[in-house]
Amino acid sequence: MKTAFDGFRAVSKGESRSGVVHARDLPRIADRLADADEAGAADDEIRWEIGGVRSAEGRPALTIALDGHVPLVCQRCMQPLDWPVEQVSEVLLARDETELAALDEASEQEVVLADALLDPRVLVEDELLLTLPFVPRHADGACAEAPEA
Ligand SMILES: [Zn+2]
Repeated sequence: MKTAFDGFRAVSKGESRSGVVHARDLPRIADRLADADEAGAADDEIRWEIGGVRSAEGRPALTIALDGHVPLVCQRCMQPLDWPVEQVSEVLLARDETELAALDEASEQEVVLADALLDPRVLVEDELLLTLPFVPRHADGACAEAPEA
């Protein structure tokens, strides 16, 4: 399966690509998820689309759109917590380490080193990691069981 792509080429061609990943298959996210056999924890599908664009300043960038569900564990009741994800972010592309450092300094935007082929799964995983709550919790009063007093 050929999935890795040249980020700068995607920008110059205006290409986009899309696919589906399962949160459970992403190594840096898997250990934060509810067990698959727990009720309400089955849906871990994330649809993604990555497109080559120019940032507002005209820099090469990628938009990364995520749409799906991540079954986290509520840290209050320890029951599965369906975390819907629906977001679009834009990351700048850097040609080398020097440009990466310069862009990081100059911009509030995320910067990705694109001196080699990019793996969509890694980009998607990076974005997901940024969007997941550090301490996931159900809304107040929505926990499965009252917490210990
Ligand atoms: Zn809860």
